[in-house]
Amino acid sequence: MYIKTSINYSPNFSTSARNSKKIKYIVYHYTGMKSENKALKRLTNDKAKVSCHYFIKNNGQIILMVPELYEAWHAGKSKWKKDVSLNKNSIGIEISNKGHEFGYQNYSRKQISSLIKLTKYLIKKYKIKRSNILGHSDIAFVRKKDPGEKFPWSYLANKKIGIWHKIKEKELKKFRNNNITKIEILKFIKHLNKIGYFVKSLSKNKKLKLVKSFQRRFRQNLINGKIDKECLIIAEKLSNLCWANNFSWKSKNNA
Ligand SMILES: [Zn+2]
Repeated sequence: MYIKTSINYSPNFSTSARNSKKIKYIVYHYTGMKSENKALKRLTNDKAKVSCHYFIKNNGQIILMVPELYEAWHAGKSKWKKDVSLNKNSIGIEISNKGHEFGYQNYSRKQISSLIKLTKYLIKKYKIKRSNILGHSDIAFVRKKDPGEKFPWSYLANKKIGIWHKIKEKELKKFRNNNITKIEILKFIKHLNKIGYFVKSLSKNKKLKLVKSFQRRFRQNLINGKIDKECLIIAEKLSNLCWANNFSWKSKNNA
């Protein structure tokens, strides 16, 4: 497989090459800046100390900014499953979008189609598990909202990218805003832990951000930080799927 890219190298990367076996995550971001050009300038400015491997422009064009075998600086302080600071074992993809601060837009069809091609190429190359395809907000929910609730996770899951619960909207809607018990809240948090989220000893404020991050990814119609019955049902389904097969990249389970 060949991916058509143009090149605009960033000076921000760790100079010793890593072993390709270390690469086990893909992390999606939005740029969150007023314009695409500003985002590209920042990602190539050595003072900014940030970068990504690939950048997807509004028109779908893919730019290579850091070669895959070098660590790009996109994740920052982050946690997922037993991993901390995911830069060292991930590929970071920035998608041009103004983000929540400057006018969050729908991702363009061309962006998503390029993203699918690029991700499939990377999955094959590094044997990346479906459950290891993540958003920045999954691994850094205290600080980050990207790629946000307009990111088409469900559509991507139909293309075998990332995990999804596959429960029909009609079924789920009945449980939206339905209160749950304290015991069920604890169950919800346990499920999140099984999926990979970091849930240990969080303050009230951080817990709220965790729930919002879960909703941005898996219950995109309502982001309110409240754990309702719908959230519980979704989390339960996802954690059971993770438990059952750990989403091996070869797995026949298309969950
Ligand atoms: Zn990000």
